[in-house]
Amino acid sequence: MKPVYLDNNATTRVDPRVVDAMLPYFTEQFGNASSIHAFGADVGTAIRHARRQLQALLGTEFDHEIVYTGCGTEADNTALLSALETQAGRNEIVTSAVEHPAILALCAWLEKTRGVKVHYIGVDSRGRLDMDAYRKALGPRTAIASIMWANNETGNLFEVETLAELAHEAGALFHTDAVQAVGKVPMDLKTSEIDMLSLSGQKFHAPKGIGALYVRRGVRLRPMIRGGHQERGRRAGTENAPSIIGLGVAAELARTHLEDENTRVRALRDRLEKGLLQRISHAMVTGDPDYRLPNTSNIAFEYIEGEGILLLLNKAGIAASSGSACTSGSLEPSHVLRAMKVPYTAAHGAIRFSLSRENTEEDVDHVLEVMPGIVDTLRGISPFWDGTSATRSAFTPTYA
Ligand SMILES: *Cc1c(COP(=O)(O)O)cnc(C)c1O
Repeated sequence: MKPVYLDNNATTRVDPRVVDAMLPYFTEQFGNASSIHAFGADVGTAIRHARRQLQALLGTEFDHEIVYTGCGTEADNTALLSALETQAGRNEIVTSAVEHPAILALCAWLEKTRGVKVHYIGVDSRGRLDMDAYRKALGPRTAIASIMWANNETGNLFEVETLAELAHEAGALFHTDAVQAVGKVPMDLKTSEIDMLSLSGQKFHAPKGIGALYVRRGVRLRPMIRGGHQERGRRAGTENAPSIIGLGVAAELARTHLEDENTRVRALRDRLEKGLLQRISHAMVTGDPDYRLPNTSNIAFEYIEGEGILLLLNKAGIAASSGSACTSGSLEPSHVLRAMKVPYTAAHGAIRFSLSRENTEEDVDHVLEVMPGIVDTLRGISPFWDGTSATRSAFTPTYA
C-alpha cells in the first residue's frame, strides 16, 4: 500500500519539476548573483525571472515589492519588527488569538521585553474573527495589524481586504501571514490594500528554508538582517539562488493548479469529510465549513486522544496531524481550538487532514476504510466513552 500523505499544511513534497529547475544552480551555475562575471550574471538573470514568476502568482506589479527571506517565520518577524520602527509614536499591535507561533511568540516577546501592547482579537465558535473587537482595538497607537489570510489548523479564511481597509482608517499598516493561502486562494495584490504579506515555499511544493515578504510599493521596510546590499538592502546575505529559482517554478505550477485545487482537491476533501462524518458518530468539523481553504479538514473525534488516532493512522500508512506541527508534543489542545471554545473532550481528539494536488481518490478511500475501526478501538479503551454519550451539536457543512 502506497503511503497516504495528508499533512500538506505542515509541509509539501517538493515538485520534481521544481527539483529539476534547481539542480543546475548547485553545479554549473553556482555563481554569486552579485558578481560581475558571467557566473554571477546568469544567476542574476535566473533570479529576476523567478521573481516575475512569484509576482504573477501574487498579482503584484513591481519587482522590488518582493523580499526573499529564509522562511515564512522570518517574513512574519520582519514585517512586525519593521512596522514598530517605521511607525513613529505607535507602539501597539493588533493580531488574532489564532495566529501561527511565528506571530504569537514574537508578540509575547515584544510585550515582555519592549513594552509593546498587543491586542489579541478573539474568534467565535466557528473561528470567525470578532470584528467589533478588531475595530475597537485599532487606534492612533496601532503600528500594525497582522491577521492571517488562512488558518493552518482549521483552514478558516479571514476577510483580509476589509481588515486592511479598517487598519488604514486608523493610520496603521496591515500585514497578513498568507503562508497557508498562497497557491490555494487567487490573489491580486496590485488591487489590494494589504501592505505586507508573508509566504513560505515549503507549503506549496518548493523547498523548505525559502520564504518571501511582499512589501507594497511606498511602504518603508527596516531590515531585520543587516549586511550586504542584496534585496536592495532590505535583507542582507547572498541570495539562496537554487531555492529562489525553485520557488519561482513552484509559483508558476501553483498558478496553473489553482483551478484544480479549488475543484478536484476540494471535492476530495469534501468526500473525505462527508464520509468520515457519515461513518463515525460524535465527530464534528471544527472551523467555518463555508469559508475555508479547499484542502483542509479539521475533525474532532470526541472522547479520544488525537495522538492515539495519529499513531494508529501511521500504522495504516496514513500521515495526518493534530493541529499544528509546532504545538504537537504538548498535552494542551491547540490554542486555535481553545480560542474557538471547542469542548475539551472534542478538542483533544481533533485531527487535521490537509490535502494537496498529489492526493487521489484511493487515498481518501483508504482513510474512510480504516478510520472507523481506529475510532472504535480507541473509544473501547477510553474512560470518557460510555457508548451512549449525547451527541454534541455539530456544524453541518455545505458542500459545493
Ligand atoms: C508553516 C507556517 C508558518 C511558518 O513557515 P516557515 O517557513 O516554517 O517558517 C507561518 N505561518 C503559517 C500560517 C504557517 O502555516
